[in-house]
Amino acid sequence: MSKGKVYIVGAGPGDPGLLTLRAVELLRTADVIFYDYLCGEGFMAYRNPAAECIYIGKRGHRHHTPQEQINRMLVEANRAGKQVVRLKGGDPFVFGRGGEEAEFLADHGIAFEVVPGVTSAVAAPAYAGIPVTHRTYAASVAFVTGHRKTDGGEEEIPVPTADTLVYLMGVTHIRGIGEKLLAAGRDPATPAAVVQWGTRPTQRTVTGTIATIAEVVERERIHPPAVLVVGEVVRLREKLNWFESGRDADAATLEERWEADE
Ligand code: SAH
Repeated sequence: MSKGKVYIVGAGPGDPGLLTLRAVELLRTADVIFYDYLCGEGFMAYRNPAAECIYIGKRGHRHHTPQEQINRMLVEANRAGKQVVRLKGGDPFVFGRGGEEAEFLADHGIAFEVVPGVTSAVAAPAYAGIPVTHRTYAASVAFVTGHRKTDGGEEEIPVPTADTLVYLMGVTHIRGIGEKLLAAGRDPATPAAVVQWGTRPTQRTVTGTIATIAEVVERERIHPPAVLVVGEVVRLREKLNWFESGRDADAATLEERWEADE
């Protein structure tokens, strides 16, 4: 007997202050919360303390729960009469497979609601002092995935023509992405930045150009999760880097908020 909907909820990029009011409302009333690596632990302070929290693993790692199993777990919990929150990092419909989970629910006749979240594609650059659009520098932005797996292996992803490109899941493929951008005719001197663990106390940003960014990322040992931003807007960071430069002054508040949530 199904009690209600499955809620597919965006957790935002990590700073708990970027959870939406609707997300908090649903976390407070959930019976079961399925969450993963990218959700962080920040939401924990806002959940129903009696809710069962089920960690379903890191993406791209060994302890990864297969998508079909996640889908089945959502359906089973719903059929058991529980109020189910499927919490996903950032926005659930931006490269998060939220679309596939919603399709599965639709195919099984289960009602669902989608609660958009603050995507890392916009928030990580913002916390690095990079507006993804700007009246002078960029009139368009594209969100691109660094790689796409198909049954036959990896699929080539064409370079979009937008002024700003934001690559998700791209750090481990950064050399290939740089080469593709050059092959597509992008100026090698175009500024580029990589933001790791955006919006979290551990956020780190490195900058370079299309020609140099892969080398910088390797030298600085930047690992996923991170977004790559390519375009003239990256120049604005020099002036607008409010989060990392202001971190000393604000660290206490942010760390406190973070710890309170653990
Ligand atoms: N739905 C998520 C994206 C999931 S795909 C969203 O809207 O943000 C996973 C990729 O998202 C990671 O490989 C990384 O590129 C990016 N990502 C997620 N959280 C991040 C964060 N806090 N900082 C930087 N990149 C992040």
